[in-house]
Amino acid sequence: MTTAISIRNLKKSYDDTVALKGVDITIDDGEFFGLLGPNGAGKTTTINILTGLVKKNEGDAEIFGKDTVKDYRFTRSQVGISAQELTQDWFFPLERLLYFQAGYYGIPRPKAKERVDELFTRLGLEEKRQARLRQLSGGMKRRFQIAKALIHDPKILILDEPTAGVDVELRHELWQYFRELHKAGKTILLTTHYIEEAEMLCDKVAIIDKGSVIKVGTPKELTRQLGKAGITINVTGADTALDACLNNFTYTREDGRLHFTTQDPEEALPDIINALTRQGCHIQRVETTKSSLEDVFLSLTGKGINE
Ligand code: ADP
Repeated sequence: MTTAISIRNLKKSYDDTVALKGVDITIDDGEFFGLLGPNGAGKTTTINILTGLVKKNEGDAEIFGKDTVKDYRFTRSQVGISAQELTQDWFFPLERLLYFQAGYYGIPRPKAKERVDELFTRLGLEEKRQARLRQLSGGMKRRFQIAKALIHDPKILILDEPTAGVDVELRHELWQYFRELHKAGKTILLTTHYIEEAEMLCDKVAIIDKGSVIKVGTPKELTRQLGKAGITINVTGADTALDACLNNFTYTREDGRLHFTTQDPEEALPDIINALTRQGCHIQRVETTKSSLEDVFLSLTGKGINE
């Protein structure tokens, strides 16, 4: 497996603020990777070091095995970034801005035209080709950012909070597009403080807080290890003999309701149901609650991600 991004012991301080305390992250080629953490955790600093916008103090950051400082020409050519803030010229039409961007990467005009046309269509900005950035809605600006990031068809796409402040409909459209890009083989590094976004999209997630990565895993692994899930079953015909046959499980009983606590409801449920039916109980209703990355974050840090 090729490694797309490798970050080792990355440290960064801004004057008195320690932003990164020694971050390690490895992202495989083709992976959809989420950097999940609250505001101020160090997400933007990490990606800005990768793309050369911020200077690191210590540690290494490599893209496809090349150092992002020594081999910056190569590493920058491999990455497209959709930043949080637009730092573009506000006076040119969007189309011109995309051609400028293609120019920075030395893309010949016919190829650039192909890319510009494709991106305007795919991102639903066709009618805005001649518009200026300041005339766009917030959602359109986001889409334009993404078009800009993709103009040179980079192998790696970095999305810094791509759906912050975006309405629900556009968020879902963007998610769909990110999934398509991922399916087509792009490596995607997404920073977010929306738990749902990381859970829906990412193969792997690193949870970052106060400048340190505190846990890495697939959303499923993380929720199984650290989440708290439950099963509630309404039964009739439960008698005291039931306790003996459920002694492998952690549960409480309240009238006809049994509340089980388990890391993995999918795995526990068949065994619980078997035990109950063996005892002659009638199951009337089963409810499961799955844990989320929010629970994981809470159990790791003692606080919610958006607190
Ligand atoms: P995130 O993207 O997770 O919100 P950042 O990387 O932007 O986090 O910030 C990490 C920490 O570094 C925060 O405490 C932030 O205030 C500080 N920081 C970020 N950029 C600068 C800067 N240019 N100057 C001073 N402090 C900064």
